[in-house]
Amino acid sequence: MPNCPECTARERKKIQAKYEAETAEENRGRDDLFKLFDEVEIPMKLDSATKHFICKRCGLYATREQVSDIKYRLNQKEKTREDKQDDYLEWWQKSKKDKELI
Ligand SMILES: [Zn+2]
Repeated sequence: MPNCPECTARERKKIQAKYEAETAEENRGRDDLFKLFDEVEIPMKLDSATKHFICKRCGLYATREQVSDIKYRLNQKEKTREDKQDDYLEWWQKSKKDKELI
């Protein structure tokens, strides 16, 4: 059964907030966080009559295609946010270097 994409994303956000609250910044690792993310399991139930999956927690009702579509879109959102952060970091480090030269 697929995991509910909406609930999984929400749980992951909670896990990330908890992880960041409990772990000092220098001890944080992306892999540790991903390991915690993998433990999130919110399986949906299949309604065999309509071939739709139902999430008992949030009530999401979708076909397998829709489930993967939502999952994909949520992943894209995460990714763009991280990419932006990387760009910012790069810009910041570059501007720091430039300042040192002056
Ligand atoms: Zn759900």
